[in-house]
Amino acid sequence: MTLRSTTLSIAHVLIAVSAASAQRLPSNARPEHYALVITPDIPSATFSGTEIIDLTLAAPAKAITLNALELKIPTATANGKPGTVSFDPAKEQATITFADALPAGPVVLKLSFTGILNDKLRGFYLSKTATQTLAVTQFESTDARRAFPCFDEPALKATFDLTLTVDKAATVIANTNVVQDKPTGETKHTVTFARTPRMSTYLVAYLVGNFDCSAHGEADGIPIRVCSTPEKAKLTHFALDAAKHFLTYYDQYFGIKYPMPKLDLIAIPDFEAGAMENFGAITYRETDLLVDDEDGLNAKKNVASVVAHEMAHQWFGDMVTMQWWDNLWLNEGFATWMQDKAAGEWHPDWNYPQGVATELDGTLNTDASRTTRTIRATADTPAQIAEMFDGIAYGKAGAVIGMIENWVGPEVFRQGVHNYLAAHLYANATAEDFWNAQTSTSKQPVDKVMSSFIDKPGVPVLTFASQKAGKVPVAEARFYLDPPTNSPGKADWTIPVCLKGATTQVCHLVSSETPSVPLAPDAPFFYANAAQKGYYRVSYTPEQLKAIVAAAETGLTVPERIGFIGDRWALTREGQGSVGDFLDLALALKADPNAEVLDSTLGTIASIRDRIAADSADDRAKLNAVIRAQYRPIYNNIGSAPSGFDAQQMHVQLFGALGEAGDPEVLEEARAITQDVFSQKKPADSGLVDISIALAAASGTEEFYNAILDFSQKTADPGLQIELLQILTRFRDPALVKRTLEYAVSGKVRNQDSWILLAIELNQRETRSIAWPWVQASWDKVSAQLTTASGAGLVGATGSFCSVDERNQVASFFATHKVDAAERSLAKALDSIDACIRLKQTQEPNLHTWLAAH
Ligand SMILES: [Zn+2]
Repeated sequence: MTLRSTTLSIAHVLIAVSAASAQRLPSNARPEHYALVITPDIPSATFSGTEIIDLTLAAPAKAITLNALELKIPTATANGKPGTVSFDPAKEQATITFADALPAGPVVLKLSFTGILNDKLRGFYLSKTATQTLAVTQFESTDARRAFPCFDEPALKATFDLTLTVDKAATVIANTNVVQDKPTGETKHTVTFARTPRMSTYLVAYLVGNFDCSAHGEADGIPIRVCSTPEKAKLTHFALDAAKHFLTYYDQYFGIKYPMPKLDLIAIPDFEAGAMENFGAITYRETDLLVDDEDGLNAKKNVASVVAHEMAHQWFGDMVTMQWWDNLWLNEGFATWMQDKAAGEWHPDWNYPQGVATELDGTLNTDASRTTRTIRATADTPAQIAEMFDGIAYGKAGAVIGMIENWVGPEVFRQGVHNYLAAHLYANATAEDFWNAQTSTSKQPVDKVMSSFIDKPGVPVLTFASQKAGKVPVAEARFYLDPPTNSPGKADWTIPVCLKGATTQVCHLVSSETPSVPLAPDAPFFYANAAQKGYYRVSYTPEQLKAIVAAAETGLTVPERIGFIGDRWALTREGQGSVGDFLDLALALKADPNAEVLDSTLGTIASIRDRIAADSADDRAKLNAVIRAQYRPIYNNIGSAPSGFDAQQMHVQLFGALGEAGDPEVLEEARAITQDVFSQKKPADSGLVDISIALAAASGTEEFYNAILDFSQKTADPGLQIELLQILTRFRDPALVKRTLEYAVSGKVRNQDSWILLAIELNQRETRSIAWPWVQASWDKVSAQLTTASGAGLVGATGSFCSVDERNQVASFFATHKVDAAERSLAKALDSIDACIRLKQTQEPNLHTWLAAH
């Protein structure tokens, strides 16, 4: 899956606390094939079906247990003999018991079943637009069992024959191609699909509704379609181009051809995740697939990434699947790493490596919490499995894979990937299978490096001492943003450390036993994370730091500059040095010509204002004055009509930062641009429209609010709609903040989006004091909107709080108002609040002193 992309960095992570009982199926029965016949009844929100499961029993048995949840099973036979069905809802299982033991060997299990088409975005569920109701599926991780009785574990792979009977006017899309479509009575038709290859239940998909799939083409002999509801079909062409490119690219990269008879990419109006890699029928949240020709580059970059991610899963995940959810990273880490590699290869001009460096910085911070988890972690219950979809399985695992590729070299790594996939086609694999394949292909100790990162929690920090006789002493430790008071224990990662100095990168394996790394004595500087591919923080001596800053603009690449600033800020948060030193460094790099670098420094300065200066309006005002004085000349230099991607982005970023810092000219211009937009006049600078509306909203009136709300309800563009909804959260008038909160849970916002509005209101310093009491007081309404992932997201949003009072309220409120699958998110949020409280206490006086001197 791809996680939702939001403008928030709500990190959820963490700690395996409870030892909930395992919910695994008995190992006696192994499914080989399912023949499924399903008839949805959309007006009554129900479905019925029959299935024949060919399975093999390892030993004679009187009972067969499989997964079923919110289903009824009126009839069940095995080899023609009737059985009695009983349910264990806590285990999400059904057991069929027979009068006489069934023999070992092949058994034919025949079941009939009925179920509900729910509105919770999981299993077989309903999605509504103004003109139709669709019935669609989302099974990962453990929700196929809500749609048909099945052996719902990733290693229990089988082939599937699927037949659906639906209304005459409805289209059905499933994993494979249609082999028969015949009328059934006056009002229905029955659609039969080709047999699938062996695959896991969580990858089965069937979608019923009025879809427009007119965007179609082919690549490497495979027909590809991009489908949406008809009114959005004009937004599908970009994704089709991307999919055509990636299919050919992956066929070559993996050295294994895409195995399905066709590929469909389908946008679903109501969708919880970002996208889902169902084999041959990939489903998407509309904003992650549909994009207008006129849309900005960032929207296109996002669609390209998500399409590349899900298509990579057709190999990594669908053809070769993790043995169990504890190794989810084998799916998600790989797809996360591959999405930017493939999209970057397609569009080298779109600077994907810069975004990767920014993501890496965020992941390192997430993983530097005391409550982080290991990449491979216990996950037995559905709630624990749901919590595996986090920044560790995606971001950290993806970064570790990128570090290995950078170390062994891209072609050797590609060979190792091919060997791993080829050895486990249509089967399952573990972490060991992956790193053993890489070890034997590269002849390097990849197993040693990967096992230390996959099975150890947290982030290493390398601390360098002064160079002596061509050697730089190095020490390894575990890095925490908020170090624990007790001893952190021995750090013993084996890390490929790639140095850059006088020459191009040279890599050394560093462990806790390594005293030093060699360095040419005449190197003017060295940077210990070449290409910013290493998964670690670095602490330098003051002299080494000075040399890097002096060389930064010419000697470091953009990803390295982003990583360098990220390291310095993380070390400041940990307690090394004062916030004043960091601000001096940030301002020394303020003229950096790259937009991503500027974005990361401006973002960090804004976070200093919101966190360290949270309690002092005076400090915030002074910091705003510094921002205006330092960045106004840079903004002026760029000019009002910049050309080139970086200059255009920087123009918008600086306009936003100056506006938020209260620059009167910028605020006046933002008001004027907004007025032009709403009076249908062409604004002077169309690149500044979005940011101007957002700035104007901060002091916006009710009339302006109503206009935005109205616009959001009328637009048919899903990307624009979510942008407008997010602008509602920029209003600061308390009455309007309350209106947004109420609106989020009014039923008028899709529940895939409603929690995002609440999370933003909780996240923002200016609106938190209204949003948090409101969420608690309105909990019945709020919790009714929550789905599996959004509950964790909402709990995670409280991690941006920064006071002891709020911390205690969060702990006590969620202790009595349990949120499903949010245990780790809560632990992580509390840890994050603690870290912020400590940061504020430590650095507030330092900030005060620094501001007084400026
Ligand atoms: Zn994924």
